[in-house]
Amino acid sequence: MEKSLILVKPDGLQRGLVGEIINRFERKGLKIIGIKMLNIEDALLEEHYAHLADKPFFADIKKFMKSSPLVALALEGGEGSVSAIRMLVGPTKGHEAPAGTIRGDFGLSGSNNIVHASDSVENGTTEVSRFFTKDELFEYSKSESVHIYG
Ligand code: ADP
Repeated sequence: MEKSLILVKPDGLQRGLVGEIINRFERKGLKIIGIKMLNIEDALLEEHYAHLADKPFFADIKKFMKSSPLVALALEGGEGSVSAIRMLVGPTKGHEAPAGTIRGDFGLSGSNNIVHASDSVENGTTEVSRFFTKDELFEYSKSESVHIYG
């Protein structure tokens, strides 16, 4: 199974979109295996966005990500799920994201773009372990999986 980390960013929380976002992933058939709210610390944020550390906007991202709590979700699904989640989320900039995606439906900004979603299967596994301890992750079967996967 593939795992993906979703973060509802401060703008998503402030704009009351948490339920809407969770609903979209649940409707798609993804399984929630972890869910929590957190204030992100510098060390975790710097690790999570290490690939952006030399960008001029990095300080702004840090300020933004610390401006409210985040809601973190660990999602699980079958082959192709990480890529399907990225399609539900849409490309980085809200003003370029197609209608029907989370970023396309709710945002216009290139930085305040409502959600983070892991961009590869490898990063999904790494990011879920980075944000969730083993005790915070749940293994269970869902009766609907036979209908979702056939
Ligand atoms: P994504 O979140 O779509 O995977 P990246 O990993 O490239 O995109 O960037 C991480 C986050 O950094 C973005 O979601 C966005 O919040 C912010 N970001 C990316 N590019 C810019 C930019 N040019 N200006 C401001 N913020 C940006």
